[in-house]
Amino acid sequence: MKSQSDTVSKILKNYDLCEYCTGRIISKIVGKPSSKFLGKKYLKKLGKSDHKTCYICKNIFDSLEFVLSNIFEKSSHFDFKTFHLGITLKPSFLERDDYLKSKFKIKGIENIKFGIAKELAKKISRRTNSKRITDDPDLFIQANFKDESCILRAKPMFVYGRYNKKIRKLPQKQGLCRSCNGIGCHNCDFKGIENLQSIEGKISNLFIKKFDCNQVKINWIGGEDQSSLVLGKGRPFFAKILNPKRRNRILRKTSDLEGVYLSELKKLSIQPKGSIPFKSEVSITIDTKKPISSNQLKKLKILENAKIQDFSRDKRNTNKRIYKVGYKKLGKTSFILDLFADGGISIKSLIQQSDLVPNVSELLENQCECKKFDFKNIVV
Ligand SMILES: [Zn+2]
Ligand SMILES: [Zn+2]
Repeated sequence: MKSQSDTVSKILKNYDLCEYCTGRIISKIVGKPSSKFLGKKYLKKLGKSDHKTCYICKNIFDSLEFVLSNIFEKSSHFDFKTFHLGITLKPSFLERDDYLKSKFKIKGIENIKFGIAKELAKKISRRTNSKRITDDPDLFIQANFKDESCILRAKPMFVYGRYNKKIRKLPQKQGLCRSCNGIGCHNCDFKGIENLQSIEGKISNLFIKKFDCNQVKINWIGGEDQSSLVLGKGRPFFAKILNPKRRNRILRKTSDLEGVYLSELKKLSIQPKGSIPFKSEVSITIDTKKPISSNQLKKLKILENAKIQDFSRDKRNTNKRIYKVGYKKLGKTSFILDLFADGGISIKSLIQQSDLVPNVSELLENQCECKKFDFKNIVV
């Protein structure tokens, strides 16, 4: 016992420490949990003033308010129930802390950074009615004590939905600005994207406004041509919402975006993994070079249950199949082909000369051109 109180008085006689650092440094020696009150008690016991500048932290605990008000101001724009806190400190704080600990052979106590974070987190929790957690927090707060700044970042969220496309001439994806290739320039208003309408642009804008986020990344379950329609229940997609400030906003199940209609919208708590297999019901309008007869079209029956092989890359078998086939002659040199097939088969490559086997042009011994194709339905 004697040597313990000896060590404590030796430390406090040689170094001016604040209540927080005293409590932390001596906690293990006196066998009590680290606290401001523990420090205060021992400083009083040894007749030390707590108004001097702390050797380790330079009284940083007295100036937490500025960083805190910064955090409170910024975090008021975010919806969050949990947060994680990271701290950036000048290395000299940790160096002095380590020096003192090694000089008095103190082991197994929290370091100065941990001590500051604990104190800061306590105040943030109390004020914002939230909880500090390390695993998957709603909000990540990085407080920088070098310049008293802070950076806040919200955990991404995910939305599932389906879209119906009711107008032609609308691409699925937003292209990069052709002038700057995505860097940002005067032509694109420094957004880096083409100023044209797209399904991606329409969906992104909806979520950017709804969740007050920076960016939206969409994972498509297949794609279509810009002139294709998407009918039936629509094409499914997943959207990743980056840095959403307002994650608690209510998302209605449907949304009408002029030409694009969204349905089945819902927030997901976790990110969907990997790619999702799907099947498409597609209706293709085809023009032929030579006149075609109904009798010749019967050859298309072979496509039913056919496996698609792609000879373009490493003679790879894609494991994709056609399940059902329907056809109808439209005119002398045109017909409609209806397919129910695995998703991800290139429709144009299937119709026109390509490395896909089977291939409609080859099958009919007639050069075919895919005029348009519409998705009647997509099945996940
Ligand atoms: Zn201190
Ligand atoms: Zn640009």
